[in-house]
Amino acid sequence: MEPDDLLLASIERFQGRIALVSSFGAESAVLLHMVAEIDRTIPVIFLDTGKLFAETLRYRETLADWLGLRDLRTARPDPDRLAEVDPRGDLWRDDPDLCCWQRKVEPLDAALAGFDAWITGRKRFQGGTRVALDAIENEPDGRVKVNPLVDWGEADIAAYFARFDLPAHPLAAAGFRSIGCLPCTRPVDPGEAPRAGRWAGLAKTECGIHQRQFA
Ligand code: SF4
Repeated sequence: MEPDDLLLASIERFQGRIALVSSFGAESAVLLHMVAEIDRTIPVIFLDTGKLFAETLRYRETLADWLGLRDLRTARPDPDRLAEVDPRGDLWRDDPDLCCWQRKVEPLDAALAGFDAWITGRKRFQGGTRVALDAIENEPDGRVKVNPLVDWGEADIAAYFARFDLPAHPLAAAGFRSIGCLPCTRPVDPGEAPRAGRWAGLAKTECGIHQRQFA
């Protein structure tokens, strides 16, 4: 199915029980725009880890206004848990899996309470474990995950940006192709994999919201 057809079918199938989870990263505007074209009231969940680039936070506001999103929700880590496990805010240095768990996985789990399905912007061309991604995933927790852009490549993304004149993430022009937290993201060089700038130098390639590091 084409991405917008899959989106429409999913939104109809899970009416009131589906959310889009968006990082407001370099490519996020495409899926946000597609969802907004169908229904601007679909809940959009944004994970504010407390470690994001200021540019991402500003972009979230710009894009949400531009698209007219009506139900943008921000999920944040539990401050008491953070004070306990990451009092200095540098857990990412010693234990990035645990840091992601506290700052991403647990807050998203809480934000998804009440939803039976969620939409993600992952694509096969991003590489790593994503090369074998399916358009629809049945999760162990019983939820369904919908990946409408699974088959899209970089040219498709660029063409969609151009066609709808979508605003670019402020860091995109500086070579940031996959944008997560500031301490764990660097720009990539031409020819590098799109996500090579995430946790560069470590074996880690995913934060854990899609592939759990802990039970
Ligand atoms: S990406 Fe880095 S800073 Fe962000 S939650 Fe994961 S380990 Fe922590």
